[in-house]
Amino acid sequence: MQQFETRLFIDGDFVLGEGPDETAFEPALGTVLASVPSASAAQVDLAVEAAARAFKRWSKSTPKERSLALLAIADRIERNADTLGQIESRNAGKPLRYARTGEIANVVDVFRFFATAARNVPAPAAGNYRSSTRTSIVRRDPIGVIAQIAPWNYPLLMAAWKIAPAIAAGNTVVIKPSELTPLSLLALAGIFAEVLPPGVVNVICGNGPEVGQRLISHDLVRMISLTGDVRTGRAVLQAAAGPMIKRTHLELGGKAPVIVAADADLDKLVETLREASFYNAGQDCTAACRIFVERSIAKTLTDKLEKMVGSLVYGKPERDDVEFGPLISERQRDRVAGFVDRARRDGDVIQGTAADEAGFFYAPTLVAAPIESEIVQKEVFGPVVSLTPCDGLDTALDWANASEYGLGSSVWSRDTETALNLANALEYGVTWINTHGVMATEMPHGGMKNSGYGSDLSMQSLIDYTQIRHLMFG
Ligand code: NAD
Repeated sequence: MQQFETRLFIDGDFVLGEGPDETAFEPALGTVLASVPSASAAQVDLAVEAAARAFKRWSKSTPKERSLALLAIADRIERNADTLGQIESRNAGKPLRYARTGEIANVVDVFRFFATAARNVPAPAAGNYRSSTRTSIVRRDPIGVIAQIAPWNYPLLMAAWKIAPAIAAGNTVVIKPSELTPLSLLALAGIFAEVLPPGVVNVICGNGPEVGQRLISHDLVRMISLTGDVRTGRAVLQAAAGPMIKRTHLELGGKAPVIVAADADLDKLVETLREASFYNAGQDCTAACRIFVERSIAKTLTDKLEKMVGSLVYGKPERDDVEFGPLISERQRDRVAGFVDRARRDGDVIQGTAADEAGFFYAPTLVAAPIESEIVQKEVFGPVVSLTPCDGLDTALDWANASEYGLGSSVWSRDTETALNLANALEYGVTWINTHGVMATEMPHGGMKNSGYGSDLSMQSLIDYTQIRHLMFG
């Protein structure tokens, strides 16, 4: 029987939550994995106060000291990858082989990248601008206590994207995982306890409306960083406009268009979508979930996609052959099923075989639907792809840019000029050309419009967690 850490991590100590219990499920079985007591209001305040105290020293540490701490965290995560991967697989329903070698390996890479970045922050100009005796210096300083709110789709990876750049820049953190998936971050807190001074990172658990809301509203918090829903983004913006104005960093939803020109390499496209659309059961903000294809090749592409969807293997996460597991919750499965059922009214639905399992599984699905359909416009967050034929690439571009979202997108053409013109004109933070969904830790990841703003990953993310200041000698 696997034991889980279910206590909060505040000021370097594990403490029992004094609020109501939240239930962490095992989505592949549909059963309870652990009960996790929430933080009480007083415990949220204690965590923020601990981070504020720790900031006084951590913000004065040298880049080298912070870098060494991040490297030590990365090494320990690597040594514990099997355990962390197993927790992530059980609590978030991820295929074990991907959780262990994919996501935990990425978490390690993120800590290592920001360990190096901490010592290489680009220096802005310094000089004599008003007169030869007045010397100006620009500093990039840490901001203070950062409240971080993480989602359930990549519990540990999204936490790493937030914690690593924030502490590399000299800030301190209070982070709240999703109430559905707190277990891997609580396990990671055991590593923080070994490496970091008390209070530099604090982990509190609980729901959004009470625990999350109290955290983001606290007057000692200087910046709020969220990965989550657009609705939650609005709650963050309201909290940021409270008595103490706070900075915000928002990574919100997405609805990635895939624009396919008549000359595209369809076999490469279909092979790419196998992963880009269905990895993590499509619960991914950059999932390739809606295809706009030139009408002349729409039938050929549909046939190829139908074959691919029929051959996808999904099921219990511990199996070696599965490409994806269950959805995160019964509610999420019902939500996805609702979208597909409504889409049957004005589109054709092609589905893989239904799983004969007790967990929250949903079959891979392809829907041929017109542009105005709900399933083409709204974020579904499941293993569902829509296909809509278009007359001309300008129409596809207009459709893509009319979206409220602006996170991931891709264009597919063998003609470089066509591909580049489309990519340049897309109002999306990330555009892939003849590929989709591939991330690089060195490259910025972030959105536009209702997908939010601010960068995760890359040096830009570390810079987002700093305050630029001007000093002048007279
Ligand atoms: P969610 O917004 O419901 O929850 C995210 C987190 O916000 C949870 O920890 C939740 O407890 C907390 N929360 C909810 N209400 C809150 C409030 N009022 N105050 C403070 N915290 C609050 O989102 P989710 O369902 O966990 O995640 C899925 C969403 O996240 C999708 O929309 C997805 O597109 C988005 N997402 C975006 C990215 C990105 O990089 N842009 C990455 C992953 C997920």
